[in-house]
Amino acid sequence: MQFSKPDCPECGKKAADMLESLYAWAHLNYFEDADVFDYQGGSKVDWDSQEPDENKEGKVQLQCPAGHQWDSEVDYSDPEEKPNGETPSQA
Ligand SMILES: [Zn+2]
Repeated sequence: MQFSKPDCPECGKKAADMLESLYAWAHLNYFEDADVFDYQGGSKVDWDSQEPDENKEGKVQLQCPAGHQWDSEVDYSDPEEKPNGETPSQA
């Protein structure tokens, strides 16, 4: 993928992170005596649900290694078609 603004407007470094959202299944405990549920404390993350957060203009939020944040348009074109494109690693 490529960004319209890949460099941090404050320090000039390349983006290191993109804000994304995902779902998590919060583990519950059931207390039979009171017939109530409560959070157990942990969650199971549904990694397949992870998607970039796009605002109303379709822009994503980027962050540099120093923690500065800014908006950018994103192009998800296949990196194989780009010169010097690298295949994204599978996490
Ligand atoms: Zn920065």
